[in-house]
Amino acid sequence: MTTFSAEKIRQDFPLIKHHHKTLAFLDSAASSQKPHQVIERMDRYYRYEHANIHRGLYALSEKATQAYEQSRTTVADFLTAPDPKEVIFTRGCTEAINLVAHGLSHSKLSARSEVILSVAEHHANIVPWQMLAKKIGFKLHFLPLTENGVVDIEVLKELLSERTTLVSIAHVSNVLGTIQPVQAISQLCKDAGCYFMLDGAQATPHLEVDVTSLGVDFYVFSSHKMCGPTGVGVLWGKRQHLEEMPPYHGGGDMIEKVTVDGFSITDIPHKFEAGTPHIAGVIGLEAAIIYLKSLDRLGALNHDIELGIYLREALRSFPYIRTYCPNTTASALTCTSFLEASWVGIVSFSHLKIHAHDLACFADTYGVALRAGHHCAMPLHSYLKTSSTLRASPYLYNNCADVDRLIEALHAAEKVFLA
Ligand code: PLP
Repeated sequence: MTTFSAEKIRQDFPLIKHHHKTLAFLDSAASSQKPHQVIERMDRYYRYEHANIHRGLYALSEKATQAYEQSRTTVADFLTAPDPKEVIFTRGCTEAINLVAHGLSHSKLSARSEVILSVAEHHANIVPWQMLAKKIGFKLHFLPLTENGVVDIEVLKELLSERTTLVSIAHVSNVLGTIQPVQAISQLCKDAGCYFMLDGAQATPHLEVDVTSLGVDFYVFSSHKMCGPTGVGVLWGKRQHLEEMPPYHGGGDMIEKVTVDGFSITDIPHKFEAGTPHIAGVIGLEAAIIYLKSLDRLGALNHDIELGIYLREALRSFPYIRTYCPNTTASALTCTSFLEASWVGIVSFSHLKIHAHDLACFADTYGVALRAGHHCAMPLHSYLKTSSTLRASPYLYNNCADVDRLIEALHAAEKVFLA
């Protein structure tokens, strides 16, 4: 029996409460709304606890340092990671991927190397590799998808070789909402002796993550998609890999000693956290994790999936609308464990006669917030043979009334655009 109640959750989100009569916010995959618990924690930090961290010799700074480092422990626990020192705070998922790309570029990637991505990647997991490939000369491969919207394992088996340095894919697609068969991929990467990185930007808002049992070398995510503040993200990496990688930025906090002749580097995690970090953001991220963990997370996931199914079924009555989400029956999509889950409820769709941008702008006049365009996944849109889609991404605080509002907006749009 689930204890999850979206109606109760809605009370926690000031923005949702404030706009409940006029807004159906269906763009959480871009950035989620924030519960008052996160807002109040950050407010308290700025009002009563702020000081710079790691260098102050006074109580206030020590308290701020403690709160910042406590968040590291909470993140490690959230990812079921063995050691908080393996948690690096970044500006977001994008910066975390760039950090790994930079780190591997120094001694692990050469012109002989190959890196395997998928066609479903967010640009954040494509462009850093393309930039490096151009500089170093290694080869990039893009895995195709099966009709279930996950990477084709058979093609991966063919591509993996002793040249492969890294396989890096999104744990959950930001367009299709599909969950990758991570364990199978991880086993293949282990057999091939290459690194395996997961981009968890769309996974951590919905799934319980255990980096050890997933068998990954690196895991990255952003706070703002999972009820936390913007400007903060996480790179988790296995200790040995992080120790082997050079620092990403130079500056204060990442050194042991500096002379006019040079510097020596401090240990992980601080080696990767040069300069004053987003202290309030890191503390806010901890509050977001505490909030999410206080919920029935499996109930929340099934809630998101059920809203996705509700929307998918409603869209079937539109002859000109094509959906890009699993066709599987509702009973096969809802799940009794996180391991079983195959989808997080994201529904992308296109209209054969109305441009996605026109529909999104029209929907806005009905108070429906949707994403329209390529969602930073242009290669996937080319692969799907469409230039743009609309995306509805249900989350904790959405309800059937939000989906109904969207459907009403679509009917109205057809009356106007197809008249
Ligand atoms: N990866 C995926 C799958 C995403 O959906 C996003 C953002 O939408 C990112 C990476 C980039 O995240 P951020 O902009 O927070 O760095």
